[in-house]
Amino acid sequence: PAKTTSDIRRDFLDFFASKGHTIVPSAPLVPGNDPTLLFTNSGMVQFKDVFLGAEKRSYVRAADVQRCLRAGGKHNDLDSVGYTARHHTFFEMLGNWSFGDYFKKDAIAWAWELLTEVWKLPKERLLATVYHTDDEAYDIWLNQIGLPPERIIRIGDNKGAPFASDNFWQMADTGPCGPCSEIFYDHGPDHFGGPPGSPDEDGDRFIEIWNNVFMQFDRAADGTLTPLPAPCVDTGMGLERITAILQHVHSNYEIDLFQRLIRHASQLTATDDLENKSLRVIADHIRACAFLIVDGVLPSNEGRGYVLRRIIRRALRHGWMLGVRQPFFHKLVATLDDLMGEAYPVLREGRATAERALLAEEERFAETLDSGMKIFEEVAARVSDNVIPGAAAFRLYDTYGFPLDLTQDMARERGMSVDVQGFDAAMTQQKETARAAGKFGGGVQLPADLVATLTPTQFLGYDSLTADGVHVLA
Ligand code: ATP
Ligand code: MG
Ligand code: MG
Ligand code: MG
Repeated sequence: PAKTTSDIRRDFLDFFASKGHTIVPSAPLVPGNDPTLLFTNSGMVQFKDVFLGAEKRSYVRAADVQRCLRAGGKHNDLDSVGYTARHHTFFEMLGNWSFGDYFKKDAIAWAWELLTEVWKLPKERLLATVYHTDDEAYDIWLNQIGLPPERIIRIGDNKGAPFASDNFWQMADTGPCGPCSEIFYDHGPDHFGGPPGSPDEDGDRFIEIWNNVFMQFDRAADGTLTPLPAPCVDTGMGLERITAILQHVHSNYEIDLFQRLIRHASQLTATDDLENKSLRVIADHIRACAFLIVDGVLPSNEGRGYVLRRIIRRALRHGWMLGVRQPFFHKLVATLDDLMGEAYPVLREGRATAERALLAEEERFAETLDSGMKIFEEVAARVSDNVIPGAAAFRLYDTYGFPLDLTQDMARERGMSVDVQGFDAAMTQQKETARAAGKFGGGVQLPADLVATLTPTQFLGYDSLTADGVHVLA
């Protein structure tokens, strides 16, 4: 029988423990050490200060399984969910690190050993990229690993390049940085897409599974790169992607963990077709929402809480499309706890809170969802240029609680778009009217005893959020 997602999570940690790595717990989705970062979006976030030399640990090798969220800020995969086989909002990143200890030779050798000896992946399906000037990594893949040259692909950085590939990592405009070497798996010619670096690289045939970052330079403000005295390794592999391969399926949504969630969602929504896109989106979103709540975020109208609210409302709209008119979303937390509660005690402990917070949000949105959907349908049927007018999107937002990105998502499904400028203009005008009348924007009320059970997330004022489509109410 194929390994389960839980087996694979374990295998990874056991393998790197056997190579002298200290196993470190996952950090929360809300980064404790970086107020400018919305969410933990990769494994390295909790080690940032170690790489910068500002923090010392008792170990020089570490491995973990980090819960990640890419649904806001710099990394935002929310709009890919339901459209690609490989993107989630919430996912688990398997990572191993060297803090000034081992470097390229060992990192690549161990990645290869785990993939081809422990997990026995067919070697001929694997490809590696290296940064175009990184002859050291190229040579390791060619001569130490024996990968044929046609499957070692040199990739530059994407400045001015025609494709999306970028094989150089940097923490910020200055500081630690270095070349990447990424491992890809070829799911075969039944799937569309080309190898990394080709014009079709965004297809789902060649799927990136593991990014190995070799931090070897310190970038100065003028762009000069100085070699770091003790280079570091930072790797990240998507658990759901490697599980799909090991379970001989193509899409992440076909793995055991997602199938359980999807099956439960199909029962709750009386939907027979398990490949229904809405079920996939709901299964994705329950993980993001439940983990955000147990990590201390509550639905609100600003900052992280608003990202959470947007994801919940997207999920509820998909439930609505499947014909559901009663709260259902919170019920999935039980299955999620079953699947992931052992690996993440915080989920097990916070399960009841997550259920209550989601139910409260479901009840709140239920008051306006149905009417809002009708309005959207009317407007969509009326417009002649495939653009939902800003005023209509604003009315949906202001009166019916439809976040802008929800309306945009609905528009996109019909090949339409939303007039965002018009939306912003309507928002500005409403704020001015409200100010003139001396009114304040209403906050959303959750049950007081529920709020009391949670540590409130500190809101640190992300001005940049508006640029990502997160609108903060006055
Ligand atoms: P992609 O090019 O497929 O979007 P990425 O280059 O953005 O992936 P990295 O930032 O290199 O991803 O993250 C390391 C690994 O984490 C990836 O190789 C992949 O296995 C996994 N990963 C990244 N984003 C997601 C996501 N949205 N959902 C699931 N897994 C992901
Ligand atoms: Mg990406
Ligand atoms: Mg990539
Ligand atoms: Mg990558």
